[in-house]
Amino acid sequence: MSMLRNAVESIQVGMEDFHEDDDRRVLSAIRNLYAGILLLFKYKLQQLSPINSDEALLKTRVIPVTDPATGEVIWIGKGKKTVEVQDIIERLNALGITGVDWKLLKALQDIRNDIEHYYSQLPVERMKEAVANALHLITQFCEPHLDERPVDILGQECWDLMLSVTAVFEAELRACQENLNSVSWPFDAVTESIDSMVCPECESRLVKVTDPTATRDAITFICSSCQEEALYAAVVGPAVSARMAGRNHWRVKDGDEPVTCACPECGEDALLVDEGECAACFSELEYSSCEDCEEPLSLEERLYSEGKCSYCQHRWDKIMAE
Ligand SMILES: [Zn+2]
Ligand SMILES: [Zn+2]
Ligand SMILES: [Zn+2]
Repeated sequence: MSMLRNAVESIQVGMEDFHEDDDRRVLSAIRNLYAGILLLFKYKLQQLSPINSDEALLKTRVIPVTDPATGEVIWIGKGKKTVEVQDIIERLNALGITGVDWKLLKALQDIRNDIEHYYSQLPVERMKEAVANALHLITQFCEPHLDERPVDILGQECWDLMLSVTAVFEAELRACQENLNSVSWPFDAVTESIDSMVCPECESRLVKVTDPTATRDAITFICSSCQEEALYAAVVGPAVSARMAGRNHWRVKDGDEPVTCACPECGEDALLVDEGECAACFSELEYSSCEDCEEPLSLEERLYSEGKCSYCQHRWDKIMAE
């Protein structure tokens, strides 16, 4: 059976399983859906592999050999092990496959891995999220890169079911985002991080604030997927940290101070450097300038010193040692 056929059947079996109101079926549904999506991308790698390369692009190990006919060096696949998510993304990117939001594939992989750990409370909502991610990946990939309409390869029934599940999930997601957008967040960095907020229990994006009029650490969250409640810091800390990671990387690379750094109190990368306050646990940095010479302190000194710049601290230590 061709790899494309395998991919399609796996996705179809996944969607058939989802129909059932049985937790074990949901588990196998997500497994099948994820496997099917990966096969779809692998099928493209198989197609792009040079002839007589033993499907080099699909294999984790690729070795160079000399072509006896031409004397040229060619790369061929070795062994049985085939590429996994990160390699698939890197190789397709390198081969000019654009327009696919790989974050959706990563998120799908996370759901696939999470369900193994949350077996007892397997939320059907996570499955809906997985279907929504899969649908967007299929839409972005099939016509532009496989020259096939999704409905033609998956069949009307399967595709319609995917569309309706996605619509339900996205309506729920919109409702959650409207709720989150209505809250007056204590810092701009938190407002900016709304899209990164997930349930700390099941990692679903379907989280909202219990009382949108609450402020600061009185804000609590409820997950529409697993129904668990969560405290302000448990959602906001990881969200700010995730949201600012990219910006911090570039700021530090350019020799600037990061937007956020690891908070000595809660451990999240959510301590807002300019404000001197943690967006998650609200603990504050005590000093901004040296109490002796009044020079502004570096970030390091603000975090770890007792109010003196390193120069004055050094001088102080010397006096004390005499
Ligand atoms: Zn949850
Ligand atoms: Zn903190
Ligand atoms: Zn000083």
